[in-house]
Amino acid sequence: MTYSSAGVLALIVHLIINHDVLRSRRGAAVIPAQRTYRRFLLAVTVYFVTDIFWGVLYEHGLIRLTFVDTAVYFTAMAFSILFWTHFVIDYLKEKNNSFRRILTLSGWLIFAFQMFFVVINFFLPILYSFNENGVYHAEAARYVTLAAQILMFLLSAVYVLVIAARSSGTMRLRNRTVGLASLAMAGFITAQALYPLLPLYAIGCLFSSCVMHSFVLENEKEEYREELEDRLQDNILKGNYYDLLTGLPGMTYFFELLVNKRTQLLEAGGKPAFLFFNLSGMKFYNQSLGFAAGDRLLRSLAELLISSFGVDNCSRLGQDHFAVFTDDAGLEGVLEQLFREWEKRCGRECPAILVGIYSDEIEAPDPSTACDLAKIACDAIRGTYVSSYRRFDANMYVSVQKQQYIIGHLDQAIEEKWIQVYYQPIVRATNRRVCDEEALARWIDPERGVLSPAEFIPILENAKLIYKLDLFVLEQVLEKMQLMEEAGLYLVPQSVNLSRSDFDSCDMVQEILQRVDASGLPHHLFTIEITESVIGSDFDFIKEQIDRFRSLGFPVWMDDFGSGYSSLDVLQSIQVDLIKFDMRFMQQFDNEEKSRIILTELMKMAIGLGIDTVCEGVEREDQVGFLREIGCSKLQGYYFSKPNPLDEVLRRYETGTQIGFENPAESGYYDAIGKINLYDLAVVAQDNTEDLKDYFSAIPMAIVEICGERLKFTRSNQAYRDFMERYFGIRLARLWEEAENLPEGHGKEFALLLQKCCEENGRAIFDLTLPSGESVHSFARRVAENDLTGTVAVAVVVLAVGAGK
Ligand code: C2E
Ligand code: MG
Ligand code: MG
Repeated sequence: MTYSSAGVLALIVHLIINHDVLRSRRGAAVIPAQRTYRRFLLAVTVYFVTDIFWGVLYEHGLIRLTFVDTAVYFTAMAFSILFWTHFVIDYLKEKNNSFRRILTLSGWLIFAFQMFFVVINFFLPILYSFNENGVYHAEAARYVTLAAQILMFLLSAVYVLVIAARSSGTMRLRNRTVGLASLAMAGFITAQALYPLLPLYAIGCLFSSCVMHSFVLENEKEEYREELEDRLQDNILKGNYYDLLTGLPGMTYFFELLVNKRTQLLEAGGKPAFLFFNLSGMKFYNQSLGFAAGDRLLRSLAELLISSFGVDNCSRLGQDHFAVFTDDAGLEGVLEQLFREWEKRCGRECPAILVGIYSDEIEAPDPSTACDLAKIACDAIRGTYVSSYRRFDANMYVSVQKQQYIIGHLDQAIEEKWIQVYYQPIVRATNRRVCDEEALARWIDPERGVLSPAEFIPILENAKLIYKLDLFVLEQVLEKMQLMEEAGLYLVPQSVNLSRSDFDSCDMVQEILQRVDASGLPHHLFTIEITESVIGSDFDFIKEQIDRFRSLGFPVWMDDFGSGYSSLDVLQSIQVDLIKFDMRFMQQFDNEEKSRIILTELMKMAIGLGIDTVCEGVEREDQVGFLREIGCSKLQGYYFSKPNPLDEVLRRYETGTQIGFENPAESGYYDAIGKINLYDLAVVAQDNTEDLKDYFSAIPMAIVEICGERLKFTRSNQAYRDFMERYFGIRLARLWEEAENLPEGHGKEFALLLQKCCEENGRAIFDLTLPSGESVHSFARRVAENDLTGTVAVAVVVLAVGAGK
């Protein structure tokens, strides 16, 4: 029983300490040394089990079973020897040396002989036997195999220890352990040979596997863990230092590298240049081909940059933005080559490469600022779809400085009232009194003098800071209104301008509502001006904001109408209270008749839609006259007044130089009469057509084409068509009317008169007497002649129809 107890203990310890290796098929499947070690341990497990059984069976005198068990015991032993030699060979990974060959051979020989002895022993007791009393006897072959095993273990011990001596660090410890385990096995087997009835072999196996576990397996695991930690750490660091997609240095690390690089380049006599790369159309590329293709493209650009500038001189800053540091000498050539190569790689459909270049000429800011400046140069060619570059120049430099100044001083400018509100009157066309005022911001800088909105508004818009200014302007307007109310002046509505980014920065409707409500003034006195371009940007969102303003009673005006974009489309779907025509109509007033015509038509359209109108930029009396004629109801411009600060507005009012404010009680009346288009009598006639049946809704006018005997009414207005029907009974529906086909009498006479007019001096005023005795007073003028067909076009106007002469 003592024998078995030792075996049980050995088995339990063996299973506990080696459970992970015994179970782990996955690791064992790929690492040869682990695979053979696992096999060795499995063989040892079988060996332990047979050893335990052996003690029990032997003690109970079950000779036959003990015999068979002993055979299995020797078999397991043979396998464990074989696997041990394999393990040592796999573990050391030594390539073809004689030691390795001897060890392999001896492993197989011992295995073969031992198996041979086991088989023969069933017939001839050469390995072991039991006498008639059931006493176990070790036979000669057993000693032979044990001796061979001892030799083999000694051999492997020497082999491993020699290699251990050559290795270092943890490998040395591990190799020594394997050597020691072999040595221990040799020792225990020797003892076993001497004391066959003691479980020394089992103890030797246990000892070896324990040592192996503690100093080899655990050590390996520890090393693996450390390696993992290192790798993890490395990855984290790499993530910080390098861009994982392209392998290029990341932004922070790149800027660190640049500090030294710039000094080195300067010392070598070079001229540092910072390049900012952007791909034009990358968003579209990603959308159409997918992000994976986009990533490949970015990697491809990174490769190109590396080959042109070297890996440590390039960085991916994020998205499709790259930065490069290089010597300015010959840079243009390098870039041209790079563009060619890019096109060759990706074809013409590929996003274009846009490059901004900043070289240290102007000043030498820190690397990140230098890259920002290169980006500004790159932004200047934004929207270009051909690969190109742009250098940062002095103008950009000035504008960047101004930009930084404005952004950096906005709060101070508001606090210290450098920003002031100027007011420009808007005048009613019919009574020429101020019916509205527009609040316009001015930045009166203690250092830089007066800055116009054109200088600071776009900068604040880009920086998404404009909301601060706009709310400040509103607050100033509210203060002014309260002041005017106290002074007993008429309060006319005040326009404030809003920008697109106001709506991104805060809930502008709510902010304005709160402030106006706090002042106690009615909403209708605060008009919101939104430029046409803003409406075009994010249609649904802006429409919602406009609707919110209007539903709260704030009038909304569309500013700068006609300055571009889809003005007409927008008007169809967005409700505004007034359209403010852009001042370019007035600027082109003299030079371009087209602009007057367009304005006339747009005005008609606005009136037709029931929307009020203002024209800005009015500078002369003749412009006023024209605008009044075409039905523009309000006028704004230097002709009436430039924008003035509040003091000036009040001073002018006191001295009587200010245009008077309109009495708000009369505003509705003036609104109505201002909108009538004097060209359109239909407005006057309305339903009352009976009384006005002798009049036409407009001057009857037509274009008549005359070709030989034939006559054609090409264009005519409704008034002319009415005239022809009423007096001649002719419906101008058919295209060509032969002169001969015209009704006899005055119709034909009229046609002939027109023909005559063409033949003579090209213009004529003539009278026709109608069958009714009335006389038609007309004017005709030849307007064009078709040389090819000989057709002549005549414009004819009916001036009056009256009693006969
Ligand atoms: P806007 O809203 O179209 O303002 C009309 C601009 O035309 C004003 O320029 C005004 O001074 C100018 N103006 C008025 N009458 C005449 C004239 O007869 N001839 C000429 N040549 N110009 C005339 P200003 O004040 O420089 O403002 C320019 C633009 O800046 C404004 O255009 C508006 O879009 C924006 N803006 C001005 N103040 C603010 C503000 O407080 N907030 C926001 N968001 N934008 C503002
Ligand atoms: Mg405006
Ligand atoms: Mg405007």
